[in-house]
Amino acid sequence: MAAKKVVIATNNAHKLEEISRMLSPVTGWEFVSLKDCGSFPEPVEDADDFEGNARIKALAARDNTGLPALADDSGLMVDALDGAPGVFSSRFAGEDATDADNNAKLLELLADVPDAERTARFVCTLVFVDTDGSEIVAHGSCEGKIGYEERGSNGFGYDPLFVSEACGGLTTAEVPAEQKDAISHRGEALRAFIREFEN
Ligand code: IMP
Repeated sequence: MAAKKVVIATNNAHKLEEISRMLSPVTGWEFVSLKDCGSFPEPVEDADDFEGNARIKALAARDNTGLPALADDSGLMVDALDGAPGVFSSRFAGEDATDADNNAKLLELLADVPDAERTARFVCTLVFVDTDGSEIVAHGSCEGKIGYEERGSNGFGYDPLFVSEACGGLTTAEVPAEQKDAISHRGEALRAFIREFEN
């Protein structure tokens, strides 16, 4: 039987890679990216929480492609910034900000913040919507601290600044992909997703 095709509702190649490497072996699904599905207008992510934005992306992808769709909405919440950048993580330094721009802005805002107050967490919500209307929602989070300079070249986004005790004080950009998967917000959400899927 042909594998079930599922579109991952993201243009972020790193998310696509993290999700498919963890989920494909369990679900047997064949993941396709939005880029493989022709073009349609990007939906406005105007919900005020991660689950709302993930659902907006998943529904738009399913309705425009006719395929079941899985979306990830995720971000970084920094305690000293009252939870910012949160749902604005990808555009923290402006609409067209690069990861380097966002990291520079974060370091600047935390310049005078002492070590004990640099606590932060990554959070991730996954929403899967099938063509029959059924839905699976899963959440994950991962505690850490914001460092003082970028370290490491794996991962993406804020990984070079995210210092994890669970990674022995390294950043999530300094450890191999499997080690990040084992402790990350996306890894936790994907494991919760798999438990729901297998139920
Ligand atoms: P989204 O595509 O709107 O969900 O934005 C997610 C943003 O949060 C990314 O662009 C990154 O800035 C940040 N982010 C989410 N997950 C990670 C991660 O695993 N590592 C580093 N940054 C992340």
